[in-house]
Amino acid sequence: MRVVVFGAGYAGLTLTQRLESSLPDSVELLLVDETETHLVRHELHRVIRRPAVIDAIEVPLGSVLDRARVVTGSIDGIDPEAGLATFRDGQVPEVAREDGTLAYDYGAVCLGSETAFYDLPGVKEHGLPLKRKEHALSIRDRFLDLCETLEPRETRRVVVGGGGLSGIQIAGELAALARERSVPVGPANGTDATNAGRIEIVLLEQLETLAPGFGSAFQRAIRAALVDHGVDVRTKTPVREATADAVETDAGTLETDLFVWAGGIRGPDATAGERPTVRADLRLSESTFVVGDAGRIVDADGRSVPATASAAIRASETAAENLTRLVEHALDDTTEFEPSLERYRYSVPGWAVSVGDEAVAVVGGQVLTGQPARKLKAAIGGGYLASTRATRQAIQLVQSELGLPTRGLPDRSER
Ligand SMILES: Cc1cc2nc3c(=O)[nH]c(=O)nc-3n(C[C@H](O)[C@H](O)[C@H](O)COP(=O)(O)OP(=O)(O)OC[C@H]3O[C@@H](n4cnc5c(N)ncnc54)[C@H](O)[C@@H]3O)c2cc1C
Repeated sequence: MRVVVFGAGYAGLTLTQRLESSLPDSVELLLVDETETHLVRHELHRVIRRPAVIDAIEVPLGSVLDRARVVTGSIDGIDPEAGLATFRDGQVPEVAREDGTLAYDYGAVCLGSETAFYDLPGVKEHGLPLKRKEHALSIRDRFLDLCETLEPRETRRVVVGGGGLSGIQIAGELAALARERSVPVGPANGTDATNAGRIEIVLLEQLETLAPGFGSAFQRAIRAALVDHGVDVRTKTPVREATADAVETDAGTLETDLFVWAGGIRGPDATAGERPTVRADLRLSESTFVVGDAGRIVDADGRSVPATASAAIRASETAAENLTRLVEHALDDTTEFEPSLERYRYSVPGWAVSVGDEAVAVVGGQVLTGQPARKLKAAIGGGYLASTRATRQAIQLVQSELGLPTRGLPDRSER
């Protein structure tokens, strides 16, 4: 029997690690991903300011798995009814059949999400997304060019579209990077006695608050931290269109030197951009489950589960339990009835986001800022990496988050 996990993000890696210990030894277990590493995507914005962080947030899959076979290949499509995956031309792994397909008895789609541009004119062409490390490095390059070629008394504007977890943290990171390069952040206010040029960072959110869906005290604290960093936060301001040098909003035109788009997500290309809806047992078909950003999960209480790393990790524990029950049942010819399946109930202990070197966290309804929030944020990232057995990366990430010397980090040339 063959079980295949598609995608080695938070959902796919956690699920595979659980299945390694819960599935009978006779079952073949494969983990398919287009890269050979697990990316700690919720820290990707850090790469904009500190490229060396890549070494802490990329984990070679082979180093954290025991018996699962890592398959490198790019999935083109999955037929959940037939239990069949197809690979993209030129990216077909050895394990696939001659026709480029891979059959499975049980599988899980954990392929994450892509940036959604919602057909807004010009947004895809001119808005830089942030999903992969190449995106982070390209945002960094473009931003540093702006900072380094600033003329005296000139103001350049960066617009970040989307005030969710990624947009907030991108804006915070850009503000901190400008400061590190001694470039003032914020609109000229007439009190600046120097001749220095400035960078204006505008964060646009179409809804009434930043971090939609989170508690109001957390939202207010995030806004205050961003304003403190010189970020111009504009809520109720939807982006309508973008050109090479402007972003059109309901409130007017913003001339723009750099536009970063973090306005939403869609399903992966392998599922035609869709995020299929699954109920709390996470089952898409008889043989196939969906976990993480790749699906819309309605939990045991009927709540829509947000597309976050923490939800992906927790839901994959339910998926591992359910897959194991089904596999054991299929291997056991003495039982006729299918086992009952676990139902995922969404619950997270808290949240933490970074705003440059500051952080804002909420735990048990209590909002934290300053050092406690920063330490909590570091502990969440480091704790996650340690739980995957990526101990070296866990230590490096905590050191980096707390501004400690990252001993053991290889020298990566930073511009
Ligand atoms: C800048 C930023 C900041 C964020 N901050 C937070 C935060 O503070 N807290 C939080 O909880 N969440 C945060 N998130 C969201 C979080 O990263 C996602 O919700 C999470 O990554 C979803 O996990 P996943 O396992 O579903 O998908 P992913 O982690 O995206 O993993 C998907 C995997 O599938 C692979 N894959 C995709 N397509 C194919 C294909 N065709 N063939 C083979 N393999 C494929 C990818 O290589 C990847 O390994 C942030 C996201 C970003 C971008």
